[in-house]
Amino acid sequence: MGVIRWTTRRKRAALKKGNSEDLELPLFKFATIMAATEGFSLDNLIGEGGFGPVYKGNLSAGEEIAVKRLSTTSEQGIKEFKNEVILIAKLQHRNLVKLLGCCIEGEERMLIYEYLQNKSLNYFVFDQNGRTVLTWPKRFDIIMGIARGLLYLHQDSRLKIIHRDLKTSNILLDGDLNPKISDFGLARIFGEGQSIATTRRVVGTYGYMAPEYAIDGKYSVKSDMFALGVILLEIVSGKKNRGFDHGDHYHSLLGHTWLLWKENNIVELMDECLSNTFIESQVRRCIHVGLLCVQKFAEDRPAISSVVSMLGNDRAIIAEPKEPGFFIERSLSPSCRTSTCQETLTVTELEAR
Ligand code: ATP
Repeated sequence: MGVIRWTTRRKRAALKKGNSEDLELPLFKFATIMAATEGFSLDNLIGEGGFGPVYKGNLSAGEEIAVKRLSTTSEQGIKEFKNEVILIAKLQHRNLVKLLGCCIEGEERMLIYEYLQNKSLNYFVFDQNGRTVLTWPKRFDIIMGIARGLLYLHQDSRLKIIHRDLKTSNILLDGDLNPKISDFGLARIFGEGQSIATTRRVVGTYGYMAPEYAIDGKYSVKSDMFALGVILLEIVSGKKNRGFDHGDHYHSLLGHTWLLWKENNIVELMDECLSNTFIESQVRRCIHVGLLCVQKFAEDRPAISSVVSMLGNDRAIIAEPKEPGFFIERSLSPSCRTSTCQETLTVTELEAR
C-alpha cells in the first residue's frame, strides 16, 4: 500500500531470508534470547497476547528486554510479525515502545522490545488498587503522552501510520508511568494523499472500533481517533466502554458520557478515586475532547494535531460534540447487558478480540 511499496517488498524478502541488515535492525541469536529468558521459563512469562507469549529477559550487558514469541506458524501470525518489524523498525518516539531487534531462526520468530516495568495501562485504570496509583496529574500526563505518540504516527513521522488497534491494553507504561503505544501488528502505512482504505477483514477490538470500520471495513486516521476517544474516557472514568453497566440505562460508557453531557453534568463521569487530586477544568476538557473523538461520523472527529492543542491549552475554543457512535441502548434482556451493540451488526468478516 502507498508510495513505499518497493522498500517494503525488499524488506519482506530480507525477513524471509532471515536477514535483518536491510531492515537496519539488530538480529538476535536464538541462543542469546534463550539465555536471556532462562529458557523461556514460566517465571519469566509476563503474559500472552494474540501474537503469542511475552517473556521478560535480561541481556548479559544488564539490559532488560521483553520478548514476544510468535506461537504459531499461521499465515496471520507471520503476516503480523513482518508488518510489525517493517513498521516499527523505522519509528522512534518517546511515546512509542522501542523495538530493539528481532530473532528469525528456523521456525522461530521473535520480536525484542525495551522492557516496560509497569506493563499495560489497563492493569492500572481498571484495577481496584492500580487506579489509586494514577492520580489526576499522572492520568493527564498519560493522556498527553498517548496523544503525542499518535500525533507522531499520523503526522510527524516520515510515514502516515494508522494503528488500527489502539486500546487501553496496548498502552504500556515505563518505570515512571510514561505511556508508550505498542502492538503494531495491525498497523497500516498510508501513502501521501491517501486518506481512507477499506478492508474485507475487519480486525480489531470490540469497544474501540469506529462504526465505519466495524460496519464497512473503512479505516483512516479518524478510526484511530475514535479509539483514542474511548481510551480517553476510560482513563478519566476508570470504566471500560465494553461491558459498561449502569443502574439507570443500558448504554455503553460512550452513551453514558453523552447523557451526562446533555445534562451538563460531565464531571460525574470522573473516577471517584480522583476526588482529591483532580483539576476540574482539565477533567472537563478531556471528557469534552473524548466526546469529539467518538462522534458517530468520521468527518466530524478532530485530527490528532487539534486534539493535542485542545488538551494542552486552557483557552482553546472547543466545538460542541455531536452524538457518539453506537448511541443505541442495548437489548433490555439481562443476558445482553454486558455486550455492546456492535455485536449485532453484520460485517463482511469480523475478527474482534
Ligand atoms: P492482544 O494481542 O490481543 O492485543 P495484548 O495487548 O495483551 O493482547 P501483547 O501485546 O502480546 O498482547 O502483550 C501480552 C502481555 O505482555 C501484556 O500483559 C503486556 O502488558 C505485556 N507486555 C507486552 N510488551 C511488553 C513490554 N515491552 N514490556 C513489558 N510488558 C510487555
